[in-house]
Amino acid sequence: MVDFIGIERIRQLVAGRGTARFIEELAREIESDFLRWSEFEKSPRHASHSQVGVIELMPASDGRLYSFKYVNGHPKNTAVGLLTVTAFGVLADVETGYPLLLSELTLTTALRTAATSALVALHMARPDSRTMALIGNGAQSEFQAIAFHHLLGIRELRLYDTDAAATNKLVANLGRLRLPGLAVERCRSTAAAVAGADIVTTVTADKRNATILTPDMIAPGMHLNAVGGDCPGKTELHADILRRADARVVVEFEPQSRIEGEIQQLPADFAVTELAEVLAGRARGRAAQSEVTVFDSVGFALEDFSALRYLMRIHQQQRGGERQIDLVPDLEDPKDLFGLLASEPVTAPASLRLRA
Ligand code: NAD
Repeated sequence: MVDFIGIERIRQLVAGRGTARFIEELAREIESDFLRWSEFEKSPRHASHSQVGVIELMPASDGRLYSFKYVNGHPKNTAVGLLTVTAFGVLADVETGYPLLLSELTLTTALRTAATSALVALHMARPDSRTMALIGNGAQSEFQAIAFHHLLGIRELRLYDTDAAATNKLVANLGRLRLPGLAVERCRSTAAAVAGADIVTTVTADKRNATILTPDMIAPGMHLNAVGGDCPGKTELHADILRRADARVVVEFEPQSRIEGEIQQLPADFAVTELAEVLAGRARGRAAQSEVTVFDSVGFALEDFSALRYLMRIHQQQRGGERQIDLVPDLEDPKDLFGLLASEPVTAPASLRLRA
C-alpha cells in the first residue's frame, strides 16, 4: 500500500499546525536539503510547451529517496474557472523503486514556494525590511504574504493586480487571517505599490516577456523576490534591473534558471550565485545595505523533494485522516503477477473461443 495525501488530508495537515508554522517547518526542511546540495542528482525540469501553457516533470534524488512532481502553468486558465498551476507528486524508495507516497502538490507548491521565497529573503533582504509590495494577487499571493509576515517580520503590505477582483479576494483573506500588526494597502499601480517598499514580490502570470518592474521603480537596498517568471519567454523584470552594477542575483539551480528564469534575457556568462552557496555561507546574499538583491525564483525539484518527505513524515505522525491506496500489487509470489487477474474466472469473448 502507498500513502496518499489528497486535498482533504493536506487541509487537515496544514490546519493541524497552522499555515505559518507549516511554512516555517517546510522552509527548514528545504534549507537542510540545500545544505547537502552535492548529494543530489539534479537536472533542469522536462518541459512540454504549448501556445497557452506548459506541463513539466521535476525529478530529484539523494540516492535513498527519489521524487518527481507533475506541474502545469496555464495563465489563461483562470478565465475559464481553472487554476493556473496544479500539481501532484510521488516520493519513492531508491532501493526497491517502490513508491512510498502519492500526494497532491497544488497547495503544497504554493506553500513550498512561499517557504523558499522567505528562506532566501532571510539571507538577501535587509534585516530591517518591514514593507513589501505584492504584485500579482492570485493563487500564490496569500502564501507569500503569510510567509513574509511570519518569517521576515513584514508589517505593511502594498498590493497591486491588474484584476481588482484578485486584490479584493486577497484583502478579504488577509482580513480573516488577522495577522498581528499587519497593515494592508491597495495601490493604483505597480509603481505606486513598489514606491518605498523594502521587498518587492512579483507573482504574476502572463506567458510573455512582461516588464512588471522597470528600472525607474527600483531603489537602492530593495530585495526583489521574482516568482512569476518561470518559463522560456515568460519573465517579469526589465533586463536592465539585473544589469545594474549594484545588483546581486541568486538562482536555485543555474542550468535550469538559464532556461527559465529572468536571466534567460541575459548572456550565458552573466554572473549569478546559486542559493546553496549562500545558505552554506560560501557566498553572500547581500554585501551592502544599498545593494539591490534579486531572487530569480523558478521553482526547483529539490524543494518538492523536501516537501514530499516532510509531508510523508507528518502524514504518518498526525492522526486523523491517514489514507493509503493500492497503487502497487501486493503478491505472495512476485513472479505470479498474472495471478492477480486469474483469481477471478476469465471468460474469453465468444469469437475467440477455441473450437472443440
Ligand atoms: P494566478 O493566475 O492565480 O495569479 C496571477 C495573478 O497575476 C492574476 O491575478 C493576474 O491578474 C495577475 N497579473 C497578470 N499580469 C499582471 C500584471 N501585469 N500586473 C499585475 N498583476 C498581473 O497564478 P498563481 O498560481 O498565483 O501563479 C503566479 C505565477 O507564479 C505564475 O506565473 C506561476 O507560473 C508562478 N509560480 C512560480 C513558482 C516558483 O517556484 N517560482 C511556483 C508557483 C507558481
